[in-house]
Amino acid sequence: MSSEIQTEEIAADAPVDVKFSELGLDPKILKALDDMGYEKPTPIQAKAIPAALKQRDVLGIAQTGTGKTGAFVLPTMHKLAKGRARARMPRCVIVCPTRELAAQVAENVEQYGKYLKLEMALLIGGVSFAEQDKKLMRGVDILIATPGRLLDQFERGKILMTGVQTLVVDEADRMLDMGFIPDIERIFEMTPFTRQVLFFSATMPSEIKRLVDQFLHQPVSIQIARTNMTAKTVTQKIVRMPSSDSKQKRAALRWLIENNEVDNGIVFCNRKKDVDIVAKSLTVHGISSAPIHGDLAQSLRTETLEKFKSGEIKILVASDVAARGLDVPSVSHVFNYDVPNYSEDYVHRIGRTGRAGRKGDTIMLVARLDEKNYAEILNLINVKSI
Ligand code: AMP
Repeated sequence: MSSEIQTEEIAADAPVDVKFSELGLDPKILKALDDMGYEKPTPIQAKAIPAALKQRDVLGIAQTGTGKTGAFVLPTMHKLAKGRARARMPRCVIVCPTRELAAQVAENVEQYGKYLKLEMALLIGGVSFAEQDKKLMRGVDILIATPGRLLDQFERGKILMTGVQTLVVDEADRMLDMGFIPDIERIFEMTPFTRQVLFFSATMPSEIKRLVDQFLHQPVSIQIARTNMTAKTVTQKIVRMPSSDSKQKRAALRWLIENNEVDNGIVFCNRKKDVDIVAKSLTVHGISSAPIHGDLAQSLRTETLEKFKSGEIKILVASDVAARGLDVPSVSHVFNYDVPNYSEDYVHRIGRTGRAGRKGDTIMLVARLDEKNYAEILNLINVKSI
């Protein structure tokens, strides 16, 4: 079917000439948006919301920072505002690849839905089953889950998927990276054939296209072009390293943090081990920092993120998986301690700065051994050198 899908491509910063109030959303949602100070929908929201309200399936090819969460949360909430959930039968299921992302989507649902009486539950690892069971029994309108926990609860008979009206898949390409595609297929198969699907992915590798072809029904397809979004507001630099020696790289990183006007920043490492080492090293040298990666307890990750948001921690040292989708409003700097192995990750990493038109700086350490990956990045972002 993919050959039939017509994708509309829009620049991330394209002007939007509709107001939220013109999209047909519930006044209670408009009031919440107004409280948050959002004046206009972002391009993906302007296109996806009307389509979703018309019950169409939506394919959104968009990365974090484009407002994609609102694009699926807002129309879904609007439709759920009428009607009520029954025990164990969620009416909407939102599947996210990581706990952090799930928690952030939940935060959005809470904010946008503060004037609606919708029940929401978060099904993620690291939270006790008993607590989740109780909520599910009371009935939830919106269930936000990571694939593993959702399937667990389904197999334990705690959830019935027959009442699902909308299934949202967020960051599908990251699900692929994490090996969740078979889980996602099962989740699709568990939901009624008549459900609406809102499907989001930053990129469209062939495995994701296959899923879309199989499970989406004549979707409205919208792609948010990413290139000029970063180029305009983000300054990209590299520092050539004489070797890949880690001690030397840590010293270079410290120097860069101390000699740039860094309000706050994220340092990306390719390996979890290095995330820990770099965070510890920065702290020892008097730069407040903390690690965030998949092996750390959920409670600790949440706490770290809060401290980073509040400014208590200046530097977050992160792995790609943990950082994907993190909603950290204004980061002044992104440091690539390692050149990412996948050039797509470079775009995601630097996308953490320069958001919403703010200025941002990125600096990457490049050693001789990194040349191949570096060349791929240049190729992807279509420039000769950074
Ligand atoms: P997302 O791409 O969903 O991760 O959203 C990126 C950021 O933009 C989040 O901090 C949102 O709170 C914010 N945001 C989403 N929609 C709007 C909007 N219409 N106007 C201004 N900010 C928005």
